[in-house]
Amino acid sequence: MNARKKESFFWDKQRETVSIAELKSLQLAKLRESVGFAAEHSGLYKKRKKLSGHDADFHSLDEFSKKIPFTTKEDLLTSELYENLCVPKKELVEVHSSSGTSAKPVYSFLTKQDIQTGSEYLARTWHMQGIRKESTFAMLASYGLFSAGLLNHYAIQQIGAFVIPIGGSSALKTLGILGEFSVDSCAAVASYYPYVIALAKQNNIRPNDLGLRHIIAGGEPFSENQRRYVEKEFNAVMYDQYGLCEINTGIAGECAEKNGLHILADYVYPEIVDMTNGKALPEDQEGELVLTTFHKEASPLVRYRTGDITCISYKPCPCGRTMPRISRIKRRVTDTLFYKGIKIEKPYVAKCMEGLRDYLNPYIWQMELNSDAGRDEAVLKIVLEQKKGDNALDHITTSFQKNFDFKIKIRTFTADELARLGNSKLKSFLDNRNK
Ligand SMILES: [Zn+2]
Repeated sequence: MNARKKESFFWDKQRETVSIAELKSLQLAKLRESVGFAAEHSGLYKKRKKLSGHDADFHSLDEFSKKIPFTTKEDLLTSELYENLCVPKKELVEVHSSSGTSAKPVYSFLTKQDIQTGSEYLARTWHMQGIRKESTFAMLASYGLFSAGLLNHYAIQQIGAFVIPIGGSSALKTLGILGEFSVDSCAAVASYYPYVIALAKQNNIRPNDLGLRHIIAGGEPFSENQRRYVEKEFNAVMYDQYGLCEINTGIAGECAEKNGLHILADYVYPEIVDMTNGKALPEDQEGELVLTTFHKEASPLVRYRTGDITCISYKPCPCGRTMPRISRIKRRVTDTLFYKGIKIEKPYVAKCMEGLRDYLNPYIWQMELNSDAGRDEAVLKIVLEQKKGDNALDHITTSFQKNFDFKIKIRTFTADELARLGNSKLKSFLDNRNK
């Protein structure tokens, strides 16, 4: 594996262009191993899911889907700290936790082998998205417990690129480093790029003068309009990437075709299931993504419900890769809030925001639901376009009033709040009503 050609279109041609029949037979063999391993070593699967060695005795992918129970986030949240640990604790070398979209973190433990294997697979995604040994790469996602920093860092170093671990630095410092080192590629949560652009402009820096060429965004859904905006401002290509802390970052990514994300289907087994009855769905049908890990010895997961809505296609991609593609994640099962009996869906709010792009920055917003002395109120926080006059706020308020069947207060983010948002994932919905 290390004696790699100097410059190749593929990171690992053999694996990336494997036939679907071969891939499916590999998946079946790996699934049997994964189920057997979890049934033998994990308290969570042995005691709670009642899995035994016999359960690994299935003969088709279909049988696997019908026979093996799901693992949910709730299962992990209610587990003891080491309940799913499958190796002696002394084998652990690292831990990561979810970025906090739920109240309690979910931990994912890693052995040295987990990191090595993960990096080798993940490098494939980064290579596909233009990272090479010659690249100067800035990791803008947070380090620390958040898996996007360190785990991606290892994978990019696997390629041999020069990695600058900017992590949680202030956006202003980030801008300075991007310029100073002539950074040509970077990764961050999608909503961070509009901030960097806004800040660059405030400081009289033209974003496209920075020389970025490959921009990778993950961690949250973003619209095609947002992509076009970031690409135009930086004069760069922006690729979507998908991963989750419970399993690994960068397990799927767009190729240059930008028509779905190739998922590392020999590293995880992807299934799409009906959200309501849990039945496995055929190709091209939208449902919840469910994943089983093949190569995680410390914290394996079997049929883990990700909460992300997508569909999968095994049709050939013009780029030549045979790994199936999942459609871009546009929403999560939890992207919905109920307020005064009305269902508020994130894509709908995002669409309203885009309709007001002349007045506000459509990509930076947060809806907050508060309860004050038993009275609920909805507040939408936004960033105004500087060019527009005083009546912009009135116009926005009237427009939202028309689109929503309830009263909504509009207010702008304070400079302080904006600075604090930094490069963490911006929660679109903040429900403070039961706190
Ligand atoms: Zn492709």
